[in-house]
Amino acid sequence: MVTGQDTRWDLGKLYASTDDPRIRTDLEAVRGQIKAFKQTYEGQLASLSAAALRDAIEAMEGPSNALERLAGYAWMEFYTDTRVEASRALYQSLWSDYTLLLTEFEFFKQELKYLDHAHFAGLLAAPELAPYRYYLERVRMWTPHTLPLEQEALLVRKNITGERAWSQLYTEMTASLKFLVHGPDGPKEMGIAEARGLRTSSDRAVRKSAHEAWLAALGREGHVFGTVFNTLMQDHLHTLELRKVPDLMGLTLLEHDLSREVIDALLTATEAHYPLVQRYYTLKAKLLGYTDLASHDLMAPLGAQAGGAVPFDTAKDLVISTLNSFTPRFGELAKRFFSEQYIDPFPTAGKPMGAFCFGLGPSVHPFIFMNYGGSLHDITTLAHELGHGLHYVMAAQRQTLLNTYTVAPLLETVSIFSETHMYNILLARETDARERIQLLASQLEGAIASISRQVMYTRWELRAYDRRKQGIIPVEELCTMWLEELRNVYGDTVRFSELDQWGWLTNPFFITQRFVCYSYAFGQLLVYALYQQYREDGRAFVEKYLAMLELGGSVSPHTLLAGMGLDIADPDFWEQGFVIVEDLLDKLAAAVAAVQKTTA
Ligand SMILES: [Zn+2]
Repeated sequence: MVTGQDTRWDLGKLYASTDDPRIRTDLEAVRGQIKAFKQTYEGQLASLSAAALRDAIEAMEGPSNALERLAGYAWMEFYTDTRVEASRALYQSLWSDYTLLLTEFEFFKQELKYLDHAHFAGLLAAPELAPYRYYLERVRMWTPHTLPLEQEALLVRKNITGERAWSQLYTEMTASLKFLVHGPDGPKEMGIAEARGLRTSSDRAVRKSAHEAWLAALGREGHVFGTVFNTLMQDHLHTLELRKVPDLMGLTLLEHDLSREVIDALLTATEAHYPLVQRYYTLKAKLLGYTDLASHDLMAPLGAQAGGAVPFDTAKDLVISTLNSFTPRFGELAKRFFSEQYIDPFPTAGKPMGAFCFGLGPSVHPFIFMNYGGSLHDITTLAHELGHGLHYVMAAQRQTLLNTYTVAPLLETVSIFSETHMYNILLARETDARERIQLLASQLEGAIASISRQVMYTRWELRAYDRRKQGIIPVEELCTMWLEELRNVYGDTVRFSELDQWGWLTNPFFITQRFVCYSYAFGQLLVYALYQQYREDGRAFVEKYLAMLELGGSVSPHTLLAGMGLDIADPDFWEQGFVIVEDLLDKLAAAVAAVQKTTA
């Protein structure tokens, strides 16, 4: 049982240690299976019957599962203590094996894409392939956007010195930036990671210094970054042309199997509710006692947690009982993470920051990594990561590897739901107005960060790409567009300085992974809509929800959500989530009024 600070996850369930000889033998077995797979199937797909194609898919899943387990083990061993040289070496070598070996399966997808249309339609209709129908459909969606094989190979090669090199330049330049910040212990030279951490400092002058020094440092390189971004935009426009994808977001939409109408409805609904953000920051300014709330105050803390740190065992019981109150099935599954040591809960020497859930395919129980310190944020993080764990476990009950994972915008369906349920339970028990303010503000700031901010990023990105079609965009224009979008979100509730125009450079996604930001807003609003349904329908909802999770990624997002009675193509759908945001704001306003009455 997880109790003491010395408790770790039990990776021995996978391999005894980093020098376990089974690692080598498993890896060799995988290599052999992949070699045999290629020998049997390369160039042969067009001649396979439905039953033979199913055998082929299963023959691909076997070694892929083993690779998930191997690479996952190495990754977790490395995260247990990054100082251990043997773990680092194993991590590096197994991850490179993992990446290289998985690319050996690429020919399979390629050949599927080029299969004759009538033949492919026959395969899709075959009962033998029913479990893999959606997988096949998704591969096939790319057919009209795929170039002849030699050209695809050429693109892969040219991307290494093209797109990838440009984004690498941005990553290396931002990682090496150093600037002077007046921190809590006086002036200090810092990098971005450290300055970022000071945005939540309780000292206003520290927040201001960190915020401004960081932006100024980015701004000094603004013209270089502007060239990087302009080049990447142009590269993307060329790719769209080559692949005959008319929509700027088209490649992401294919990846996520969503239509542009759905995204537009999400963006429009969120933008219509930007005044809720302004209402929140008006309340926050009041709580902080500021008449001039500034951009460096956006993440200012609202006082300390009154009860002090919550012991881990208390948090554990709280989270389990919360999940149990949703459905005893969740309660039971959650308990296993603790009783069977599938969680590494505490910060220890050599362990990186952050919290994740490692889903290693359906053949391995997921593991949770976190750095529990006893704050409210840590408790909700535990609920969040367990939610991911439950999602993996539920999908693994019925699905094989290729059908387990949902598209990215649905990956947070259980984690955010668990977190929301946790907040709700805590809020229902809390009568102290100051504590209620903490709970509500923390939830609202999370919602604003994942909904409004991400929609603002997406809007700015779309505007930039659209404008890039007319030619190079001067960096000043990118900055002006950024300030315009900031003002759309915050109105005049927040004061922005000249330096805030460089804010677009603080989001690496614009450079390294375009058009993904909307998926955070999608995930959060979807969960709020689901949660709203749960509040209305109770038990009937739970059964439907569990059935949806068991489907994993075996059907399209539309089908998955239609089973819940949700129509994401209906613009009104996105309105439902804002009912919850408004409700939180009403409760916050009431708590603020209660506090001010007692202090008046
Ligand atoms: Zn998550």
